[in-house]
Amino acid sequence: MLSFKLVYSDAYYLPIGEHVFPAEKYRRIRDRLLASGVTEASDFLEPESATDQDILLVHKPEYVNKLKTGTLSPREEMEMEVPYSRDLVEAFWLAAGGSILAARQALTDGVGISIGGGFHHAFPDHGEGFCMIHDVAVAIRRLQRDDKIRTAMTVDCDVHQGNGTAAIFAGTRTASALLPSAGASTLDSSSLASALPGKMRGAHAGEVFTISLHQHNNYPLWKPPSSIDVDLPDGVGDDDYLAWLDNALSSGLRQFEPDLLCYLAGADPYREDQLGGLSLTIEGLKKRDELVFRVARARNIPVMVTYAGGYAQNVEDTVTIHCNTVVAAKEVFAPKK
Ligand SMILES: [Zn+2]
Repeated sequence: MLSFKLVYSDAYYLPIGEHVFPAEKYRRIRDRLLASGVTEASDFLEPESATDQDILLVHKPEYVNKLKTGTLSPREEMEMEVPYSRDLVEAFWLAAGGSILAARQALTDGVGISIGGGFHHAFPDHGEGFCMIHDVAVAIRRLQRDDKIRTAMTVDCDVHQGNGTAAIFAGTRTASALLPSAGASTLDSSSLASALPGKMRGAHAGEVFTISLHQHNNYPLWKPPSSIDVDLPDGVGDDDYLAWLDNALSSGLRQFEPDLLCYLAGADPYREDQLGGLSLTIEGLKKRDELVFRVARARNIPVMVTYAGGYAQNVEDTVTIHCNTVVAAKEVFAPKK
């Protein structure tokens, strides 16, 4: 048995038909985790749907109303890039409920993983890039409302920038624009930054600090500023990626003490991803997961995990990458002897 819980429901499946987003990945991840003996049935928790009130902590009433009544404009539906249906609305409400549960579990167990979620391209008033509802933001706002946490940090390792996350939490930033350590603060990170391809941009955060590591030359075209954005050039491989992630985490955690770390473990920085242009290996992606978990555990910061994107040529690779995130958590969060 694991020392933490996996949040999963068969109803995580997104009813979007033939689509580059492999909606069946969630069930396949669950099945593989069980078949390989990494987990057992009792490790899984079934989530409940988020309530409309939860969704409204992040999203505008007009947008929520359009989703519930099926009155999105054709343009709004096109921008979402998934075909609207009532069933799809329900799947996104459930994803948000799953993220709330995973975040609560993180606070008790140190880590909580939803085998779903990570819809980081959803904005308060519209959806885009396969994302209708920003489940991670809903979870953060719900736990804040319940006084379970005051602050949170998002660490978004999907290959695409977390534009929805940046936009949602931009409003909570303070005016003082304090740049993180891309240039100056320690010898270590400045020499690292100048030796690596890519660049780090930053803005000071309020109660939610947002970090995004992504391929610069990729969707979304307009990238609203996160607290730290690491813009990676095409083709970055394991070593440079891990060095940048380490650098961004150190820089963020020097400036900010989160009560909860929300890790978006996208599988799409993988070298064989159809929608990504980075060159990470399956092993490199597992090291990425371990790095995030080790840093969080060393500082006693609870981590909630969601899965975000993953569009490998071979769906089995996407499933392997996502399963490895659970394996990495199992290794790093093994009970101390
Ligand atoms: Zn992505």
